[in-house]
Amino acid sequence: MSENKRKNHPEFTKYQELIANHQVYQGLHFSRNRSGSVRWVVTGKSEEGRQRKKWWVAKCKELGIKVEAGAFAKAAVALHPTKIHICQICGKGLSVEYVYPNKNLINKLKLAFQVEYKAFDKDIFQIIDELSTNEEALKKLKVIFKSTDEIENTEMLKDWLNENHTKKSSKSFLSPGVMSNPPDRFDGFHSDGSCCRSESDKGRHKENLQRYGQDRRVYENWADGDWKQADRLMSEFRKVGLSADHIGPISLGFCHRPKFHALTKEKNSAKNNRMSLSDVRILIADENNGEQVVSWHSKYIWDSLKNYVQNDPDAVKLSTLMRTNLHYVLTLFSIIDELGFREFLMQFLNLKYSFFDYKFEGFDPQTGKFKTLTRIEKRGKNQDNNTKRYVRIAFESLEEYKSITNRKVNLWNDPEIDVKVNKMLELLKLGEKSEAEIELHEILKEFAKQLTQKW
Ligand SMILES: [Zn+2]
Repeated sequence: MSENKRKNHPEFTKYQELIANHQVYQGLHFSRNRSGSVRWVVTGKSEEGRQRKKWWVAKCKELGIKVEAGAFAKAAVALHPTKIHICQICGKGLSVEYVYPNKNLINKLKLAFQVEYKAFDKDIFQIIDELSTNEEALKKLKVIFKSTDEIENTEMLKDWLNENHTKKSSKSFLSPGVMSNPPDRFDGFHSDGSCCRSESDKGRHKENLQRYGQDRRVYENWADGDWKQADRLMSEFRKVGLSADHIGPISLGFCHRPKFHALTKEKNSAKNNRMSLSDVRILIADENNGEQVVSWHSKYIWDSLKNYVQNDPDAVKLSTLMRTNLHYVLTLFSIIDELGFREFLMQFLNLKYSFFDYKFEGFDPQTGKFKTLTRIEKRGKNQDNNTKRYVRIAFESLEEYKSITNRKVNLWNDPEIDVKVNKMLELLKLGEKSEAEIELHEILKEFAKQLTQKW
């Protein structure tokens, strides 16, 4: 949902003025809408986005934060003058720091104290004040937090937590009330807080159920292939009450292809993106017939392992490793995006397929085959809007990986790969796009090498 179409809560409008005019953000670019309100969101690609990015880079340097994945997010927390972010939707204030107990901690507190805290309702320091009424309670809390023995009172415990968890953005049992997103949002945080995040997602989901579901499937895995054609064939299955499953699941790194298993609904969910030996054989046979079956980013792992698959358990093992590879790939993309090189990633989205539609004739739901296929070119506002939506969704799918990249250790946990990643990012900074792409392939080969060792 486009942010500016949402009605802002009056408290959020006040917050925008406070932040945009605050000396902390002096020099961070913003303009005003015709209505006079602060233009809060810009895209990283735009001129305004680039100006904002420069500002964040300079701030990181000023703060002694190394400019790498997650750096802007750290700076956004460090700089925030009040540490309280106001939700655009409900106007509630939530801390940008790691102060709210996560589900796991809420459960532990429930077990130890028979109290049930609501998520994002109270911060951990308020909770400690409420709970540590005597020696025994303090002892229980120390056990839950695995804190040091020297802590003698409530204040010491709070200081210890602040130093060791909040200030370190430790996710062990705390979370912030808002997700970070610099430089898109002026203050570097998503405009809706955890107070409303799930509700707004639900709303969006319900609103666009039909389309949204299709979009996500199409773009969230950055897959190669004519997704439009695959999507249209899948609707043929749906018309006769069947659901269909890709031979070579998209979520494992395979291509969009008009090739499916027909499945009943139950079977489909049970299968859950795991290949069988027969799937692998079909994929290899199609490849031998000159078809592209796997996306460019997953080719190395597929090529390294496909010929080792002897039975169904092997096929499941390969599925798991390919899923991990794709997680690595999307994490890497999220790092690239976060550092402002969205344009570099755009080339990997197959937007051209938005402009075609397909008609199948003689479709047989039993086999998934068809007699003829007609391609129709479509140009217009509708297609343009679809394209925009697809781009948005592809990048939205990287969001969840951004929180992973905020971890100190990258998913692949291999310093040698990190060296290559940094080299690629340096090349991007220098504008050497084709050199960067070569390096990107070197990284993909390393992912495959690491995962092949787990075979
Ligand atoms: Zn809210």
